[in-house]
Amino acid sequence: MKCPKCGREWTTFIPPFCTCGAELEISYDYSKVDVRKWKNRLSSVWKYRELLPPVKRMITLREGGTPLIKARISEKIGIDVYIKDETRNPTGSFRDRLATVAISYGLPYASNGFIVASDGNAAVSVAAYAARAEKEAFVVIPRKVDRGKLIQMMAFGAKIIRFGESVDEAIEYAREIAKLNGLYNVTPEDNIIGLEGQKTIAFELWEELNPTHVVVPTGSGSYIYSIYKGFKELMEIGVLEEIPNLIAVQTDKCNPIASEVLGTKKKCTETKALGLYVKNPVMKNKAVKAIKESKGTAVIVNEEEIMRGEKLLASEGIYAELSSAVVMPALLKLKENGFIEKGDKVVLVVTGSGLKTGEGGKEKFSIGPTKIEILRLLKEREMYAYEIWSLLGKPLKYQAVHQHIKELLELGLVEQAYRKGKRVYYKITEKGLRILQNFEDLENI
Ligand SMILES: [Zn+2]
Repeated sequence: MKCPKCGREWTTFIPPFCTCGAELEISYDYSKVDVRKWKNRLSSVWKYRELLPPVKRMITLREGGTPLIKARISEKIGIDVYIKDETRNPTGSFRDRLATVAISYGLPYASNGFIVASDGNAAVSVAAYAARAEKEAFVVIPRKVDRGKLIQMMAFGAKIIRFGESVDEAIEYAREIAKLNGLYNVTPEDNIIGLEGQKTIAFELWEELNPTHVVVPTGSGSYIYSIYKGFKELMEIGVLEEIPNLIAVQTDKCNPIASEVLGTKKKCTETKALGLYVKNPVMKNKAVKAIKESKGTAVIVNEEEIMRGEKLLASEGIYAELSSAVVMPALLKLKENGFIEKGDKVVLVVTGSGLKTGEGGKEKFSIGPTKIEILRLLKEREMYAYEIWSLLGKPLKYQAVHQHIKELLELGLVEQAYRKGKRVYYKITEKGLRILQNFEDLENI
């Protein structure tokens, strides 16, 4: 990859902007691409390999090729609506498309391992694909993360680093750790290679339906931009005349991209749709350009509407995470304001599974310093709550320690060992030891 402005060569990773300030975009020799070859290949991201970076070894779990399902709501609103069910990817989200390309491409440069900053789904995907490649994965995630995603990351053996309130802060931190430790950074805001995988959804939609509108939940803006790039490449090849209208959905709590498109006042506080909680999206300009050039728009939905969206999708038989459920209320708004009408073919992209939220609904867990200390104590020997409280030697109420132990039990990091009279003795579990190991490894790097 050569910078079009200064000619600098980028090989190991490709940032969104060159050091000279020019915007970098990966391109191919489109005149050589014959899309007829795609017909006889297995559905997967790699089906479109002519339009993907060359890799020596493919790390794949058969991601992509997700079903496109006609939505029941079509009859009710009199418009053809389809759901692109990205929850069917190997780890349950669209980010597997990113991970398969980023990990396969980065493998020769990742002798020390991979790192990614993410609010959840990308961290899970990178953890899974790095495990498959027998490489270490470091994931930097904000303090609040959906519990199901955390459990997935742990299962894949990722080294988990909690940092900052929203993903923006995690991105900067990951950049520093990557430099210090020679890790291959696959954070999409710092390395656009994975977006090449994400764009393949556009090829699938074109093959299956050739939609007029595509509705995309938007946090960092990387997915809507990738989709735009995919459709634009089909135009370059000469098989598509017009890019479908791309529609970004954000929430009334956090809407840096939608507010820019709609010319409304920007807000950004925490939303239930955690995946859409990105304060300063690095890809904002690219996302806005994708929306404007495709003659699309943006829709803002509120927290109540998100909950209704979850139910509406469930009535279609799809259990989506709240960050994806926003597409349903957005659809109704688009119909109401006349942006879509009879004759259109509308695709709703459901980006991630509701199972990722974790059982018990919307609780958010965090493993902070006190929990780590409790785990350290229990690694030494089995103890009862009062003992733990007195050994912690912190100005903490006994009740607070009790609450920490309760959460550790629910996270499966601690379990009851035995009872002696009224005393319950606790011990650390295998999973707890693994988490503790993660933190200790990190302190040593
Ligand atoms: Zn340059």
